[in-house]
Amino acid sequence: MRVSVIGCGHLGIPHAAAMAEIGHEVIGVDLDQARTDRLNAGECPIHEDGLPELLARHTASGRLRFTTSLAEAAEFADVHFLAVGTPIDADGRRYDTGQVFGAVRTLAPLLTRPCVIVGKSTVTVGTSRDLAALVARFAPAGSEVEVVWNPEFLREGHAIEDTLRPDRIVVGVPSTHAEEVVREVYAPLLRDGVPLFVTNPATAEMIKGAANAYLGMKISFINGVAEMCSAAGADVQHLIEAIGVDPRIGRGGLNAGPGYGGGCLPKDVRAFTASAQALGALETAQLMRAAEAINETRPAAALALVEETLGRSVDGVRVAVWGASFKAGTDDVRESPALAVAAAMHQRGAKVIVHDPHAVSTALVRHPELDYTEDLEGSVRDAELLVIATEWAHFREADPKVLAALSTDAVLVDLRNLVDAAEWRAAGWTVRQLGRSAQE
Ligand code: NAD
Repeated sequence: MRVSVIGCGHLGIPHAAAMAEIGHEVIGVDLDQARTDRLNAGECPIHEDGLPELLARHTASGRLRFTTSLAEAAEFADVHFLAVGTPIDADGRRYDTGQVFGAVRTLAPLLTRPCVIVGKSTVTVGTSRDLAALVARFAPAGSEVEVVWNPEFLREGHAIEDTLRPDRIVVGVPSTHAEEVVREVYAPLLRDGVPLFVTNPATAEMIKGAANAYLGMKISFINGVAEMCSAAGADVQHLIEAIGVDPRIGRGGLNAGPGYGGGCLPKDVRAFTASAQALGALETAQLMRAAEAINETRPAAALALVEETLGRSVDGVRVAVWGASFKAGTDDVRESPALAVAAAMHQRGAKVIVHDPHAVSTALVRHPELDYTEDLEGSVRDAELLVIATEWAHFREADPKVLAALSTDAVLVDLRNLVDAAEWRAAGWTVRQLGRSAQE
């Protein structure tokens, strides 16, 4: 099929490449000319495992190209995936759907023949209905242009895997014809056994909101429990393993840490809270607000743990922070808790150097006041304190004996409970982890 992917960011680029990989002819559209130029040259502007190879393969084969022209996309494609951003708006509560309505407002008058717009962006319930009304009003093809909602569940850092082998495809359709088109687009994945959930557009929008709200709540819950464990002399890591085996609870996403971040969960939880309030589910709004409050206080809680471990203020202390991205596997630093902790220590007077294997250039743009290095061992040289803030797997493989010799004081605060504390202690480190005792 001929498809367009409108919006080439963390969602749109992997989606465009994956659609080419499963056999479609794809045109990716973005407003940013520099971005589309790089993409056409087969260069990947985001860090995502496996993506550069797919991009290079399909831009070279001619099955995938990028443009800034929606007119070109309208002329070319029969299915238009909508993957533009939905940041949170100025009041910090609702989605700013300006990019979604802006793209559809420009696209609609160009749609002169039957086609389907497949919304993938995360939106408030009711958005798809409003977009369908906009299309009906402005598209020359009128009711032959349908709007479907197909929320995206990919995890950054696993975008290709999750797009080519998703655990589910959810689609909210206004008609059986629209359902048939979606089934045809995803036919190779459906043949591989990926479950398809077909529902109405409002439910599809709600499914995405509820999924991310639940994930945020789960993370905040375990972070709250970690705090209780610290106070009670219990061990949150043992607790997680023991409650995680219960299939009603599940081990996935159940990790104590410095809080959820990124371009999705924080805004999606906020928007779901506002939606619950607007729809009259006041206790649900309260529940979600509590999850938000726990998350918002994580950087301060991390700072408190650092100062408790040091036995003094972090003011003047040389600190190495491992991790800038909001989680491992990505260079995305939007609402990164790792950077929030690093910035909080800097503000308090610490001399902070941040190491990250992939996110130094993106972090530098947001926090130019911090020092950065891509050299893992170099970051620890002469540091009095090491803070692990992102769960990059190779941090676990670092040799604590070598690092102890480089560091002046060999004090580690591990905000991801990532390393083997006993091994690090044996190598001479003082180790503190979240929700675990200081001694083990
Ligand atoms: P992003 O900001 O990385 O990318 C959005 C892109 O859309 C930008 O490159 C922007 O230039 C482009 N754009 C804006 N208006 C446009 C227009 N009129 N025409 C063409 N391009 C336009 O955002 P993202 O992280 O890719 O997220 C996109 C949507 O997907 C959001 O709603 C997000 O909540 C949702 N989502 C993201 C992820 C993820 O892992 N990032 C996962 C699931 C869902």
